[in-house]
Amino acid sequence: MKTAGLIGGMSWESTVSYYQVMNRAVGEALGGLHSARMVLYSVDFQEIEEHQHAGRWDEAGQVLAAAGRAVERAGAEFLVLCTNTMHRVASQVQAAVGIPLLHIADATAERVKAAGLSRVGLLGTRFTMEEDFYRGRLERDHDLEVLGPGPEDRELVHRVIYEELCRGRVRDESRREYERVVRALVGRGAGGVILGCTEIGLLLGPQDTDVPVFDTARIHAEEAARRCLATGPGGEGGEEVLRPRA
Ligand code: GLU
Repeated sequence: MKTAGLIGGMSWESTVSYYQVMNRAVGEALGGLHSARMVLYSVDFQEIEEHQHAGRWDEAGQVLAAAGRAVERAGAEFLVLCTNTMHRVASQVQAAVGIPLLHIADATAERVKAAGLSRVGLLGTRFTMEEDFYRGRLERDHDLEVLGPGPEDRELVHRVIYEELCRGRVRDESRREYERVVRALVGRGAGGVILGCTEIGLLLGPQDTDVPVFDTARIHAEEAARRCLATGPGGEGGEEVLRPRA
C-alpha cells in the first residue's frame, strides 16, 4: 500500500472526515483490519486564515510547502491538500516537493462528468467561488459550466464556513439557507452542486437537495484511498480494488 501525505487542519473539522473516509474505504476494499497508510501534518488554521483574509497567499503557501516537505520526509508518496481554498497555492506546494499532489478539483470534476453532468453550481469560500484557480480549472481543464450564487449569497455561504462550520457549529437555520441557495442554482440550470469547501458536507447532504451534490472532502478522500491501493507508480491500478461511489 502507498502512503498518503495529508496536509490538514483547514479546518480540522473536515480533516476528521478525510481520516474516516480513507480508513473506511481501505478497510472495505481489503477487509480484515486493513486501514489507510498515511502521514498527517495538521496546521494551525488561525495562521492560515489570517494570511488568506489579508491576501498573503505566498506566506500561506510557504507554510503549506513546509508541511508538504515534512510529510514527504516522513515517507508520503503523494500529497493530499485537505481544503479547496488552499489549492490556490497548489502549484507552490507542488514545486516544493518531489511527489505528486492529488488535486481536489480534478478528482471532483471526474466525478461530475461520470454522473453525466456538464453544468454545475459551486459553493465554497469567496476565494473558491470567485477566483480563477478553482472555477477556471473546472471550466478550462474539464469543460464544465460553473454557476456561482449571487453576491449576497456568496457572502452568506462564506460567512457560514468560517464562523460556523470551521468551528464545529452545524445549525439548522444555516442548512435551510444553503438549501435555498442550492434551489436558486438549480433554478438557473445547475444539474448538480459541488460542495467546494471540505466542511459543507457536515451541513448539507444528498437528502437535503433535489439534485446530486458532490462533496469534495468525500470525493478527494476516496480518490486518495484509491491511490493508496494503486499498484502503478502514477496511481493506476487502484480501480480494481476500489471503485468510486456516487
Ligand atoms: N476547508 C475549506 C475549503 O475547503 C475552507 C477553509 C480554508 O479556507 O481552507 O475551502
